[in-house]
Amino acid sequence: MDFQFTEEQERFRKEIQQFLDGELAAGNFKPQCDAWIEIYDPEFTKRLAQRGWIGLTLPREYGGQGLGPLDRLVLTEELLRYGAPCGAHWFTDRQVGPCLLAYGTEEQKSEYLPKICKAEVSFALGLSEPEAGSDLASVKTQAQLDGDHYIVNGQKVWTSAAHHQSHLYLLARTDPDAPKHKGISEFIVDLKSPGVTVRPILDPTGGEHFNEVFLDNVRVPATNLVGIENNGWKQITSQLDYERSGMERLMGNYPLFDALRKYVHRNTDRGKALSIDPVARYKIAELEASFEVGRMLIYRVAWMLDRGILPNYESAMAKLYATEFQQRLTDTVIAMLGSYGDLTSESKYAPLGGMAVSAYLFSPGLTLMAGTSEILRTVIAQRGLGLPSK
Ligand SMILES: Cc1cc2nc3c(=O)[nH]c(=O)nc-3n(C[C@H](O)[C@H](O)[C@H](O)COP(=O)(O)OP(=O)(O)OC[C@H]3O[C@@H](n4cnc5c(N)ncnc54)[C@H](O)[C@@H]3O)c2cc1C
Repeated sequence: MDFQFTEEQERFRKEIQQFLDGELAAGNFKPQCDAWIEIYDPEFTKRLAQRGWIGLTLPREYGGQGLGPLDRLVLTEELLRYGAPCGAHWFTDRQVGPCLLAYGTEEQKSEYLPKICKAEVSFALGLSEPEAGSDLASVKTQAQLDGDHYIVNGQKVWTSAAHHQSHLYLLARTDPDAPKHKGISEFIVDLKSPGVTVRPILDPTGGEHFNEVFLDNVRVPATNLVGIENNGWKQITSQLDYERSGMERLMGNYPLFDALRKYVHRNTDRGKALSIDPVARYKIAELEASFEVGRMLIYRVAWMLDRGILPNYESAMAKLYATEFQQRLTDTVIAMLGSYGDLTSESKYAPLGGMAVSAYLFSPGLTLMAGTSEILRTVIAQRGLGLPSK
């Protein structure tokens, strides 16, 4: 097995690092945990777009770079390593662009893909509902065809960044009488449409990250149906495999991990207690090893995508392992720092840049979003190990 990236990919990695070093030197951002999802910075996103780094895998005819999933992996790995603020484009780049490419009409592709690449449109994901999270096929939001429009009524919840983005990628029921997996469809909804209300929900860090989205007689042009009516379930399940397996599942907290290593090394030089504590040493070594395992699981999925092989239980394995790694990391750091771990960056006494507490508070969500660990274990058992479903 060849574990090397190509020379071109290594050159690309260096180019990204140079760009990010320049951004840091200019004070354009500060490395933060979970910045891929939590930190919304449209100006930073625009600068990435100007370099052609949004929609990297989309074909050139639609404004992309026509590169592969492994190239995107290199890009995302570096963005995460630097804790760069990517909340303005991550979902759009990761899955909405590829979904529209796979299922959109020619008009939708010509309209939206170039705008995605130029960071002129951005999407929130309107999947989960109060009664439909793990059991996503139970969505109740209805889209009823009325002439050349669908009339949409219902409620979405946990919709990340809907208060910032221009559009919603919506999953809605189009045939209430069909079996639940067979009557749902996907739509592009302009979030400025009359009848859309976005209400923020505070997350445990106190941040306004996700929302409730209410859709009240929202008129959506029939041309905004993505793919085939009532085929939404098939479409969404393959999209979830993209969603689950990215580097963000492993490296969202990388700035904290990096700060921890530097802290330990600094204190080792000075012969401080932390460095000679064998329990701490053991824990950090364990985290290092786990990080590498997680990286290999994610590389494998990107490698499969690069070869046109659709990942399945492999994505579930990668997401499960990687997000549980991130939780072990924040648990370990908080335990090691004691009360100091609670201090935020505003305190001059806060170790590790004050990143520990917010990363710790955000971490339970990592094993919920994009499929809970219980659901992923079921996927691995059934699709990977072939165990019976009942
Ligand atoms: C930070 C964050 C961001 C999010 N962003 C978005 C977004 O942008 N768009 C969006 O649509 N959604 C988003 N979500 C929602 C997320 O996808 C759901 O939280 C997730 O699918 C779980 O659904 P639920 O919250 O309804 O939990 P439930 O499905 O109610 O599950 C509750 C518990 O029961 C367990 N459980 C449920 N069913 C089973 C089963 N069959 N077997 C075993 N255990 C089971 C679960 O594992 C879980 O522990 C986000 C969530 C978080 C935390």
